Amino acid sequence: MAFDIAALGRWVALFRDRVSDEQERLTALDSAIGDADHGANMARGTAAAVAKLESATPTTVGEFGKAVGMALVSTVGGASGPLYGTFFLRFGASGGDGAELDGPALAAALRAGLEGVVSRGKAEPGDKTMIDAMTPAVDAFEAGASDLVSAARSAARAARAGSDATEPLVARKGRASYLGERSAGHLDPGSVSTALLFEALAAAAEE
Ligand code: ADP
Ligand code: MG
Ligand code: MG
Repeated sequence: MAFDIAALGRWVALFRDRVSDEQERLTALDSAIGDADHGANMARGTAAAVAKLESATPTTVGEFGKAVGMALVSTVGGASGPLYGTFFLRFGASGGDGAELDGPALAAALRAGLEGVVSRGKAEPGDKTMIDAMTPAVDAFEAGASDLVSAARSAARAARAGSDATEPLVARKGRASYLGERSAGHLDPGSVSTALLFEALAAAAEE
């Protein structure tokens, strides 16, 4: 199985659906250690990304990444917009002019996306950010990339475990870092939306 443009579009639509289902929870998490807008930011951004894919009708992975990334950057004011936007722009640049991604190519695109988020946000694992879910997810996908569906499933599990592990951490990046020690004892909201991103990828792969 390979991910073609239609499968990539399903991934983003499923991400939008999951974000919309979990919007209130994402906002509640962000109200504990941030400014209570992560649910609204992600709902607005992912809806704009789906709309952009419908109007732009990309034919290459590069065009797909640009459409989704630009929609996220231009509609989300918070930190998460530029970060997820960069993820999709770099994902697309990795896939380039190709019309589909097999397992290893999808692994490379996910790795490029993660590297983009790291170079933009300068967070390290353990800083209590989306990186704490994205890093183990990409590692898990790469490890199993020869079987795309099972790789996507293990990436989703690794993202969720990485997100769960943010609870005791003290935030060192983003708004939550303003709280210092008081940020401990809460999940990082961006890590939870990243778990949804990889759960959506697994669901798209299974379809
Ligand atoms: P804002 O904090 O601007 O209101 P959001 O609430 O939408 O934006 O997103 C907050 C999430 O962004 C955090 O939970 C965290 O996961 C992520 N984040 C913030 N800063 C960084 C960073 N420098 N690197 C990686 N992720 C970050
Ligand atoms: Mg916020
Ligand atoms: Mg905000």
